[in-house]
Amino acid sequence: MVELQDAAFLLRRIAYGDSSYIIHVLGQSHGRLTLMARGARRPKSPFRASLEPLHMLHLTWRPGRTGMGTLVDVDRGVEMVNGAHSPEGLQLCAVAAHIFQEGDPQGFDELQRAFGLLATRSPQDGMLAGVWSLLDDHGLLGPLDHCWQCGSASEQLFWSEAECRCKVCGGGEMLNPGLRRAVPAVMTSARVKLSAADLTMWARMIQDVLRRHGIRPMNVV
Ligand SMILES: [Zn+2]
Repeated sequence: MVELQDAAFLLRRIAYGDSSYIIHVLGQSHGRLTLMARGARRPKSPFRASLEPLHMLHLTWRPGRTGMGTLVDVDRGVEMVNGAHSPEGLQLCAVAAHIFQEGDPQGFDELQRAFGLLATRSPQDGMLAGVWSLLDDHGLLGPLDHCWQCGSASEQLFWSEAECRCKVCGGGEMLNPGLRRAVPAVMTSARVKLSAADLTMWARMIQDVLRRHGIRPMNVV
């Protein structure tokens, strides 16, 4: 029977029956997949130690005739974020699991980029940068120097209904110009630090975007 292989990140592991897991993964070439890992909860299962989140996994599976495939082999590769960053890494997985749905061809590269941002920053800055990157890659954000509704550049921009908007399109709470410059700077350089007030505002903006798009709000501050 044909077997497929791919590099992948584990998103979720759900106990199934007495001894198995159903796993949700983001494959590099196959996108989001659901696989049955038979016997993976048995003490002697070779899957047991390998099926870990926050690592690059190398999977072999047999596709199902209808729907779910069956895991045949898994090798655990490099750790994407170290142990000190693992709670934040799991939050990135949770956001990715909401954004990328079954059959979606994307997700692996986006989550890898988010892990990279987290791994090179403090846990809090890194998680905000990682989630921002996932949301941006998914087209839910725009640049912070333009109105996301009409596209006009303006000195004064506001945060309204989880979007950066000009006065005409929304008004609302004024976005501090320092924050609007600092966010793109933090995304490209691990050396940039946000002030405590800017971090709090950025976390709130992220929560607003997650909520607006029906993604479970997370513990970002
Ligand atoms: Zn506008």
